[in-house]
Amino acid sequence: MTKSEGLAKAGFSSLIELAINIPHSYSDTRLSERAEISKTNTIEAEVVSVSRLPKRLQARVRTPASERMIEITIFHPKPYHNALFKPGMRHFLQGRIEMFGPKLRMTNPKIVSKTGQIVPRYRCKIRQDIYRRIVDTLVSVESLMEEGLDRNAAELIARAHRPDGKWLELYDRYGGIGPKTLEALKFAEAFDYFSRMRGKRVRFEAKRALKGSIGPFLERLPFELTEGQKRAVSDIAADLGGAAATRRMVVGDVGSGKTMVILAAAMMAYPHRSILMAPTSILARQLYEEAKKWLPEFMDIALVTQGRERGEPSNAHFIVGTHALLYRDLPEADLIMVDEQHRFGTEQRKMLEKFHSEGKRKPHYLQFSATPIPRTQAMLDSALIDISLIESTPFAKDVKTEIVGRRDFGKLKEHIGREIAEGRQVLVVYPLVEESEHIGYLSLEESEEFWRKNFDGVYVTHGRDRLKEEVLQEFAQKGSILLATTVIEVGISLPRLSTIVIAGAERMGLSTLHQLRGRVGRTGLKSYCFLFTNTPDNDRLKAFVRTKDGFEIARLDLKFRRSGDILGGKIQSGKEFLWLNMAEDEAIVKRAKEAAGRR
Ligand code: ADP
Ligand code: MG
Repeated sequence: MTKSEGLAKAGFSSLIELAINIPHSYSDTRLSERAEISKTNTIEAEVVSVSRLPKRLQARVRTPASERMIEITIFHPKPYHNALFKPGMRHFLQGRIEMFGPKLRMTNPKIVSKTGQIVPRYRCKIRQDIYRRIVDTLVSVESLMEEGLDRNAAELIARAHRPDGKWLELYDRYGGIGPKTLEALKFAEAFDYFSRMRGKRVRFEAKRALKGSIGPFLERLPFELTEGQKRAVSDIAADLGGAAATRRMVVGDVGSGKTMVILAAAMMAYPHRSILMAPTSILARQLYEEAKKWLPEFMDIALVTQGRERGEPSNAHFIVGTHALLYRDLPEADLIMVDEQHRFGTEQRKMLEKFHSEGKRKPHYLQFSATPIPRTQAMLDSALIDISLIESTPFAKDVKTEIVGRRDFGKLKEHIGREIAEGRQVLVVYPLVEESEHIGYLSLEESEEFWRKNFDGVYVTHGRDRLKEEVLQEFAQKGSILLATTVIEVGISLPRLSTIVIAGAERMGLSTLHQLRGRVGRTGLKSYCFLFTNTPDNDRLKAFVRTKDGFEIARLDLKFRRSGDILGGKIQSGKEFLWLNMAEDEAIVKRAKEAAGRR
């Protein structure tokens, strides 16, 4: 059997994958020299006497493993039990021996035919014996080392497939593998992932290297870039200046200042052209305004949205727009950027890239995302795309987060009144519900009247609202309270927004809550986030109140999801890992990445 035949038969594509699928249990049929109480023993037994009771067979057996006889009880015996248990007959019996007063007892023993072995049992889709033979042939310390594992990890993993008595004793005592073996398995899994992804990543030649200086842009800024921004900018500078087409994702919390990074990249591309695509026309317009404000005058900037155009797209250095960009005949660009990338389909993102390719040579491509992912996940993803994390925000956000229940509603109403009187704005987010569903909260429609009766300047929008953008635009200028469902992603900045109330907060993932909380206090304004819930004593919400860091929240979200206390939401990565835990294994993944990189 060759390696590839064996792997194919077992259903795996790499040897490490086969090796980390360790046995789920072991069947130990070694004979006990001395019967041990409160343990599973395999004994050679001679039946001395038998009594048959209704629904029960009772026998006394003699064994070399004990001076005393052992009482065997079999409940609901089958005909073959009756045939096997007759005085004078000998069998190998396996089961737990317990003290029962002065007597030794074994209840419902297994009758084993072969003794003296430790047989691993696997999760597999083929016959156990065939699977075992494949593992026996392919998995060894040497073969694992050939795959690139260090001796220590290779030994720990190989041992789990062929344990000796001492190993098995520890396994039984602790109810599973030890921490060192677990770590070796995690390491091997991450190592295998990186090794395989390396082959998968395709690199393209860039149409041209972009090496413009960002000096003229930096000079105009009234502030210094944050550490996170600087790092992202220098990652991008290194990318754009190279011969390979850049494929990078910049991930930074809401308010971490990604726009400045976008503008810096456009500046680096100058005098060549760059294009930025944003998910809504409000957002595109805002980005356009910021570009006009911060980029030097010698850069020509244009805006392209549906039915609206500013500047001269046909010869601009920097074109900002919505997906309308995909349907316009535009000059070719050397740098493509997509803001809030998760709001576009893969197709749309690919299309933009394709329009600006020249045969095999591609434009540089940068994506920006406001959805923090756990660092461990970012590291794994970085096998396929380069990633920059912006982990800081320009100003410490002053958002007071509080869990409120029904009883506190009066105070909440007063607070809202005060904020509005000060000229600030309030966003109230309602959970999205199907009409038939009863969840214990008023829906947006049901609450609307209450707000209108008590306050002026109430605006309403929801995800399916076709006039969403107009409503938002008007609210931004004239409104006091905006009622919305979660599906609205308010990408635009509302600088006067100081309070957000999230109804039914316990129904939402922490990352969603964090996105929503990120809507307030974007300019350093003292702000408030109220988590309105019928179940205020909720650990997840309490953890959320304490945590401000989006990357930490992504980690927590994953942790709580694992423990199954969340209703909806999907885990980012398509790949499921057997051993790795995104919430905890950052250090191991880092080591594995380095080790795989050295090969
Ligand atoms: P993001 O797109 O990452 O959510 P923005 O780019 O909209 O965040 O930036 C949020 C706010 O922070 C903007 O008002 C922006 O002008 C400001 N800002 C960005 N970078 C800095 C900085 N280095 N120092 C101070 N303010 C900054
Ligand atoms: Mg942004």
